[in-house]
Amino acid sequence: MAKKKAPKKSKKRMARKPRATARKTDALLATVRGATHRYVGHVRLDVGHAGAARVKRMIYPPGFHWAKDMKPVTGTELCMHAHVGFLAKGEIHIEYADGCLVEHKAPQIIAIDPGHDGWVVGKEPAVMIEFDFGGDTVSRLGMPDVHRH
Ligand SMILES: [Zn+2]
Repeated sequence: MAKKKAPKKSKKRMARKPRATARKTDALLATVRGATHRYVGHVRLDVGHAGAARVKRMIYPPGFHWAKDMKPVTGTELCMHAHVGFLAKGEIHIEYADGCLVEHKAPQIIAIDPGHDGWVVGKEPAVMIEFDFGGDTVSRLGMPDVHRH
């Protein structure tokens, strides 16, 4: 009996569309359980807490450019946040006020100083997992208050 059932199961599995299954189970893009969800300047934010830190899974869509999408929201000339964490998917380029251009491509650990513009490169979304401490982020993560050499 058990032997008869097994081939039936494998037939069913083969009939499934692998693409649809892969998309459905992409943990990097799925809703984060136990986190809050919102969109800011076309960026998808899932935010949760771990110890004293906030952990954020951020999805930057293809075509995202901070100066176009986020500047109107923050009201600052450049992004003044420090971004510390892990770029899990995609590619982003960061440009500082002094003209320094830094290219980040997943998988990569990131430490982006305050005072930057940035944009997504390529056709896939950039997924970043970041750690922050609200208003104390820069000091508690040991980051400079602004990009300098
Ligand atoms: Zn520089």
